[in-house]
Amino acid sequence: MTFSIQATIRALAAPRHRLSCPRKVWRQGLAEIASRGEGHHESGAFLLGYSDGLRGRVARFAYYDDFDPACLDSGIVVFDGAGFGPLWQLCRETGLRVLADLHTHGGPGSARQSPLDRDNPMIAQPGHVALVVPNFAIDFRMRDVGVYEYLGSHRWRNHSAVGLGRFFYTGVWA
Ligand SMILES: [Zn+2]
Repeated sequence: MTFSIQATIRALAAPRHRLSCPRKVWRQGLAEIASRGEGHHESGAFLLGYSDGLRGRVARFAYYDDFDPACLDSGIVVFDGAGFGPLWQLCRETGLRVLADLHTHGGPGSARQSPLDRDNPMIAQPGHVALVVPNFAIDFRMRDVGVYEYLGSHRWRNHSAVGLGRFFYTGVWA
């Protein structure tokens, strides 16, 4: 039997956050979200990845308008239920599951769920995470990202601001 110090160090350093996203995936995903929002309307994506039931790790973004091309037209995200067919198809093909969804709001400062967001979870499954990014994802700070965990029965736990650093890890601290 061999004892691997490297593996032990990796295990100790591994993030204990409920949801994590590699920095590269996060940066590229948010750049694409910002581009699709054209600086003046909302856009968003499902965050697909792996989960052991306790912790999820995002592997890729799947953009709303790739499943429902009209969903950004009104300025706010209005996702047609028909878009879930191709989403589940992608999940089957890749072996990934939907861990979270992310959409943008306009304006600088902290982004928080709107009453519409609260009443309409994209995935109404306990443990699902909804992220809200300010300023149409152009030049924002991580601490201004809204992070909400769905508890079921139209209840959410707010992990924004103080709780964000414990719950969600991207390797981006700006
Ligand atoms: Zn919203």
